[in-house]
Amino acid sequence: MQSRLLLLSVVLVSVTACSRQEAPPAAGGAASPATLAANRAVAEALPLAEAQDFEDARRGFIAKDDPLVIRRADGVPVWDFASFGFIDGDAPGTVNPSLWRQARLNGQYGLFEVVPGIHQVRGYDISNMTLIEGKSGWIVVDPLTVEETAAAALALARKHLGDRPVSAIIFTHSHADHFGGVEGVLPADPAAAERIPIVAPLGFIEEATSENVLAGVAMGRRAAFMYGQPLPRNPTGHVDTGLGKGPPSGGKVSIREPTVIVDRTPQELEIDGVRFVFQYTPESEAPAELAFYLPELKAWCGAEIVSHTMHNLYTLRGAKVRNAVKWARYIDDATRRFPDMEVVFASHHWPVWGNARALEYLRAQRDAYRYVHDQTLRLANEGYTPREIAEQLDLPSTLRTRFANRGYYGTVRHNAKAVYQAYFGWYDGNPANLDPLPPEDAAKKYVEALGGAAEVRRRGKAALDAGDYRWAATLLNHLVFAEPSDAEAKELLAKAYDQLGYQAEAGPWRDVYLTGAYELRGGERATLLDPKRAIDLLRHTPVASFLDSMAVRLNGPDADGKRMTFNFIFTDVGETHVIELENAVMHHRMAEPVPGADATVRLTRELLIKLGIGDAGLRDLVMSDDLQVEGSRLELLSFLSLIGKPDGRFPIVTP
Ligand SMILES: [Zn+2]
Repeated sequence: MQSRLLLLSVVLVSVTACSRQEAPPAAGGAASPATLAANRAVAEALPLAEAQDFEDARRGFIAKDDPLVIRRADGVPVWDFASFGFIDGDAPGTVNPSLWRQARLNGQYGLFEVVPGIHQVRGYDISNMTLIEGKSGWIVVDPLTVEETAAAALALARKHLGDRPVSAIIFTHSHADHFGGVEGVLPADPAAAERIPIVAPLGFIEEATSENVLAGVAMGRRAAFMYGQPLPRNPTGHVDTGLGKGPPSGGKVSIREPTVIVDRTPQELEIDGVRFVFQYTPESEAPAELAFYLPELKAWCGAEIVSHTMHNLYTLRGAKVRNAVKWARYIDDATRRFPDMEVVFASHHWPVWGNARALEYLRAQRDAYRYVHDQTLRLANEGYTPREIAEQLDLPSTLRTRFANRGYYGTVRHNAKAVYQAYFGWYDGNPANLDPLPPEDAAKKYVEALGGAAEVRRRGKAALDAGDYRWAATLLNHLVFAEPSDAEAKELLAKAYDQLGYQAEAGPWRDVYLTGAYELRGGERATLLDPKRAIDLLRHTPVASFLDSMAVRLNGPDADGKRMTFNFIFTDVGETHVIELENAVMHHRMAEPVPGADATVRLTRELLIKLGIGDAGLRDLVMSDDLQVEGSRLELLSFLSLIGKPDGRFPIVTP
């Protein structure tokens, strides 16, 4: 029962990581002839030699740390860019050449001048830090994911541009790779730090602290697949996320309350002597987001609603689907409000210069999302179901030939399914899919119907030999779910995943497949969840969110028939929450203590955080000076023992 408390599942899947596996099990090996042919076909179909993106990604280069390895105070690397040094020259057979091109582009790192007055540090994290020259110092846009990378990026800028102070900070949106490093750019003196204005979109703190609270454990596990967390960095492993190299490993995440809120379009503000015209762009790439224009510099910052990839309407780690229509409208709005823009820069990737090119780029980004949205609904209205839609949908030639619209991070296939999901949900309307058997039961029956394990193995091998990897994966997945101890079946399935990974144009698809293969071969199960590194974020998380996360950990069947009431008085934040257990549901509300409760508990939010991150267990709770109980300690313990702690390493590729 020790730590069965509310391990708050926070955060930022993108933030933390367990140590990389140094000795992975037997790797995937070579590309098959079918994969070589598929990757050759990609190379022939796309103008991979086109130089414009490379020119743009290098333009304005000033300096870089070489090699670039950013370490924590204890010496552990947080950001090891040098480990991607193998990405050079032509694509190896084991990497889709279009993804390889993107990985090479994301390999252009350092300090760059965008235009006089705007600099960017790129490649010091998965995201960009932008520095806008104000009257008294730099306005920092998006201080990266962790303090260590943010501090290194700012140090690079200071070394080459002069020792300017930070005069303001802008968080473009509520994803951690755009605010988590804030402490790394604020002055050490707290009084000086307090004086620095922080601009963020309405809803920023709520979204930043709560987005992953309820579902974070499962998201963290799925994110390890999406980012290929346990994979080595080499031509048969992780090469790129499509958006950037990957999330930093470990490092300290922090957050600051904004002091200036952007909540409308247009919203004009002068920040450190620079004129800004903000657009409020919520429910697009992030639930709380903004973009802005700098009229004097004719520069538009597209935050993350534009980038050099088709972005995710749905992210494979799992999240609520995003609104394609609003997303497209915000980009359209920028082209109409700021038709004189001369440069577009963003929170990931490199800028686009020149009025005509910038506007064309934006219109193509806009239409990529809009096309997927509109055509998915056209096909749905003709009766096609998600997999049928995804199979036939591709961008029109005018969009798909532009590299910035290609699916390096999001893909047309999974985004089409996201649009379907947004309108229709999980059910495709076919009665056979209303209540099918769960995977293990179905697998056993499929294997039996196909003539037994040996026959399925034979057919699986035949599909592998034919290069029919999607079908091989389906067949062999049934076999593995029917016979999880069948080592040969697992190796065959891993081989199918290897080749699917080698062919994938999207970084996350490659990582998902290769991580699946890695685990089938006995690799340790990874998760990208480590709340200890996000303690600062937890301190900004409302008590009610912690209680919500407790409610989703309540073991319903064990709680059946129990009725309890508690007053939780949080002495450090001066809040009282009444907790009631009834019908196997935990309710909570901020209210005056109710008489007749089973117990009244005085505790601190800090203690709750410690419990949440596993720094304290139930014993500590009972013994702690930070906790006093009036009433029945036994009932309290009995209640707390109903709150489970998922271990976050559940199986995915096996039952
Ligand atoms: Zn981002």
